Amino acid sequence: MAGDIKQNANMRIIDYFEHAINIMYPPICIICKSSCWISNILCKECWEKISFITRPFCKKCGTSLTTSSSMILCTDDFCINEKHCYNYTISIIEYNDFAKQIIKKFKFHAIFKLRKLLKNWLTYISATLECKDIDYIFPVPLHKSKLKLRGYNQSAIIAKIMADITKIKYNSKILVKIKNTANQSELSKNLREKNLKNSFYISENNRKLIQGKKILLIDDVITTGNTINECSKTLIQHGATEVIAISIARR
Ligand SMILES: [Zn+2]
Ligand SMILES: [Zn+2]
Repeated sequence: MAGDIKQNANMRIIDYFEHAINIMYPPICIICKSSCWISNILCKECWEKISFITRPFCKKCGTSLTTSSSMILCTDDFCINEKHCYNYTISIIEYNDFAKQIIKKFKFHAIFKLRKLLKNWLTYISATLECKDIDYIFPVPLHKSKLKLRGYNQSAIIAKIMADITKIKYNSKILVKIKNTANQSELSKNLREKNLKNSFYISENNRKLIQGKKILLIDDVITTGNTINECSKTLIQHGATEVIAISIARR
């Protein structure tokens, strides 16, 4: 009880400071820089450009189902015939030009505000998950040369926010990428699977840590689904019992 009162008082102080800062520095939209007094992160026009993936969506791959609300799976062969190595994926927004801009913002300014936006979205998604029996949160790893070139792994940024919300253990060292693969979106459907084959790895010692564990994989954008599937395959082959995946955007 006393803790709650103290926490409420702290929240009021934070709100007060935020309000004071907003008066001194009126908030601007992280995308177009116009005024955004209401949402504090995005202006009304940009907010309207977000295309949220709403129900119904494929219960396996997470794509929107526009044809019939009575369907539970999309028409993809992998979904119909349960060929995926993961249990299911959930994505928050469609990958349109706006989503592209949001994802691009990871590295630059706006990161503090963007974190706030992502935290809101991920809090909403985490409420729909059975989080209590998930053992680890892993980001989809980047190959070390790509990480060096980019300087950061945006999936890791999202995964850390998710770990913060759910209090699930975060680990970016267990699942590693050992093959520097070509960009999936530039390849034909046939070559995508081949491109990723044996590109993820878990060391002997780390394999012990995932025995019988349920893993939540985090990616920034799910494009073809092959990456998430290959990561899941590696995790399952080395002892994990279940993998579910969340991405901010889905193509
Ligand atoms: Zn805007
Ligand atoms: Zn599907």
